[in-house]
Amino acid sequence: MKICAATGNPGKLRELRRILEAQGHQVLSQKELGLDLDPEETGSTFAENAAIKAAAFAAASRLPTVADDSGLCVDALDGAPGVYSARYCGRHGDDEANNDKLLRVMQDLPAEKRGARFVSAVCLMMPDGRALTCMGECPGRVAFARQPGDYGFGYDPLFIPDERGVPGGGKRPNTEHDSYAQLTPEEKDAISHRGRALEELEKRLPAFLSET
Ligand code: IMP
Repeated sequence: MKICAATGNPGKLRELRRILEAQGHQVLSQKELGLDLDPEETGSTFAENAAIKAAAFAAASRLPTVADDSGLCVDALDGAPGVYSARYCGRHGDDEANNDKLLRVMQDLPAEKRGARFVSAVCLMMPDGRALTCMGECPGRVAFARQPGDYGFGYDPLFIPDERGVPGGGKRPNTEHDSYAQLTPEEKDAISHRGRALEELEKRLPAFLSET
């Protein structure tokens, strides 16, 4: 299926594209479609914000559209930064400042209090307004310092997932304690919040498409 990817975030676009293309879809970015949209995320949940973005892009592109709304939820911070992950430092999309703030806020928390999970809500919206929303989560913890790698974006250098994918398929415990940024795309997509939400979408898609 030809799908519009409803995001202006290059890191997210890269992941949506590779996962959806591996599922056999053709992904078109807003740039490729000549769209310039940045809908306001006024929802209070990931699912609400994913639906807001998907609706705006589906209306403009007239294509089936996938939007992802996601964020990092830290247990000791009552789920913050959560839906505010992209603007945690006060500015939208400043990854370095967001990471600095999270490290600062958590500086006195010992290892056992650094549990967190990444959450993704993925909304597929058809041009007629029908929608299918799927959730994905990845448990892990927040590192004491950045662990940069060759990949990733956003909070990737700070997040240590409990599991990692295995080349060729499957997953295993992340005994190396590598960050999301240190995993290969294959290792991340197999266990990531976004990978899991899109896996669920793939499972539910045939029934959704056959509904009249
Ligand atoms: P939004 O979904 O556009 O509101 O932005 C989500 C924000 O959460 C991004 O700007 C990132 O800071 C963060 N985020 C979401 N998914 C990931 C990920 O896979 N790795 C790192 N950061 C992420």
